[in-house]
Amino acid sequence: MSKKFQCPSGMHDIFGERYENFEKVMEVVKRNASIYGFRGIVTPVIEDSGVFTSGIGRSTDIVEKEMYSFKTKRGDNVSLRPEGTAPVMRAYLEHNLYTRPQPIKFFYFSPFFRYERQQAGRYRQFWQFGFEVIGKGSPAIDAQIIIAVFSILGDLGIENVKVKINHIGDEKCRSKFKLALRKYLKEKEASLCEDCKKRTKENPLRTLDCKKCSAKENAPQAANYLCRDCREEFQKVLEFLEEMEIPYEPDPLLVRGLDYYTGVVYEFVSTKESSLLEIGGGGRYNELSVSLGAEEEIPASGVAMGVERVIDLMKKEGKIGKNRENPKVFIAQLGEMAKKKALKLFEEFRKAGLDVAESFGRDSLKSQLGRADKMGVLVTIIIGKEEAIEDKVILRDMESGKQEKVEIKNAIKETRKIIKERKSKSSPSF
Ligand code: AMP
Repeated sequence: MSKKFQCPSGMHDIFGERYENFEKVMEVVKRNASIYGFRGIVTPVIEDSGVFTSGIGRSTDIVEKEMYSFKTKRGDNVSLRPEGTAPVMRAYLEHNLYTRPQPIKFFYFSPFFRYERQQAGRYRQFWQFGFEVIGKGSPAIDAQIIIAVFSILGDLGIENVKVKINHIGDEKCRSKFKLALRKYLKEKEASLCEDCKKRTKENPLRTLDCKKCSAKENAPQAANYLCRDCREEFQKVLEFLEEMEIPYEPDPLLVRGLDYYTGVVYEFVSTKESSLLEIGGGGRYNELSVSLGAEEEIPASGVAMGVERVIDLMKKEGKIGKNRENPKVFIAQLGEMAKKKALKLFEEFRKAGLDVAESFGRDSLKSQLGRADKMGVLVTIIIGKEEAIEDKVILRDMESGKQEKVEIKNAIKETRKIIKERKSKSSPSF
C-alpha cells in the first residue's frame, strides 16, 4: 500500500464550517475596508529573504527562528512571508507609489508562515488581515486604523476586546531609552536567557517581548524617555480613542516583536479570556521604508489581525452582523478640529445604521469631494474649520447640488430626510 499523506504539522485544511467562518470574516473585512477607504493588495507568498531580515530585524524571533527560508535553483535566498507589512512596503517602493496622491491605503487578507513551536493558537500557516496607510502619518490615522478594527470586530459580534497601547518613541528618544534599558539589562545579566544576553547588545528592545525570562518587570519604560513631540502625539491618539469610546489601556512595557515599529504600538486582546493570546496588533512604522532601500523615512501606520484567533472569538461570543449596503453618505473634513468632529460623526452614523464613507487620510477637500463623487453617495457632509467652531456641518445633496448648514447634532436626522426623498423618487411608480 502506498503512503497516506497528511497536512504538514501546524497547518490546516480549511473546509466546511471553518471555510464558512473564513468567508464571513473576509466579507466583513472587505466591506469595512471599502467604508474606510482601503483598497486590496496581494503580494507573492515568497519574497527575497532580505525584505524580512532588513525589515523586521535580524534579532527578532520571527527572523531568527521562525522563517521558512531556502535557496531557489538559481541560488537566490527567499522566504515564505511571515508577515504582511514589509512586503506591502516593498511593493509601495518598487512601484513608486509615493508619486501618487498620499496616503496609499491598502488592506490584505492572506496566509502567512512561521515555523512556530506547536501550541494552541499558534500555527505554522495562519491567516491575517491587515490595513496599511503609507505616505502620511498622523494621530488621526493611527486612531482610525484602530477604530476600523473595532468596527470589524463589532460587525462580527465580538465586543469584549480592548486595545493595549504604548508609544516607543522616535529614533532619537528610542536611542536614549535603549541606552537605559541596556544598562538595566547588564545589571540583570545573570537572570537573562541566552537569547536575551545576546539581544542586550544587539537590540535590547527585543528582550522586552521574551517569554522566557522575567527581567522586564522592573525595566525602564519607553514612556519616560519620550520627547515633547512624541508625548503629544501619543496623547492625541489616546484622545481620539477616548472620543470614540474605544476601550484602551496604556501598557508601558509593550514594544511588539518586530523592529520596524516607531511611535505608537498596540495590541488587541480579549477582555474575557485571560489566557487568550492577543488577536492582533500594529503601530507606526516610519523607518521601515529606509530599511527597505528608500532614501528617506516615509510615514506609515498599520495593523495585522490573526484570522484564526478572530474566528475563535467569533465562535465564543459572536453573532454575525447584517451585511451592509454601499455607503450613501460621505464625510469630508478640513483641519485638525474638523477631523476630530468628523471621526466622531462617522462613528455616530455607523452606530445609527447609516453606511458612511470617508477619506480622513486626505487633507485636500477637492480630493475628498472627488472620492465622494466617484462613490456615488447621495449626501456629502462637509466640516470645515468654520463649521467645526460653530458645531455645524454642511449637507450637500449630491444630486441637486444644493447645500445647507445644519447643527451637527441634527446631521443624522437631516441626512436621513434627503436619503428618504431620493429613495422615494427613484422607486418605480405603478
Ligand atoms: P504579529 O504579526 O506577530 O504582530 O501578529 C499579529 C497577529 O497575527 C497575532 O496577534 C495573532 O492573532 C496572529 N498570529 C501571529 N502568529 C500566529 C501564529 N503562529 N498562528 C496563528 N496566529 C498568529
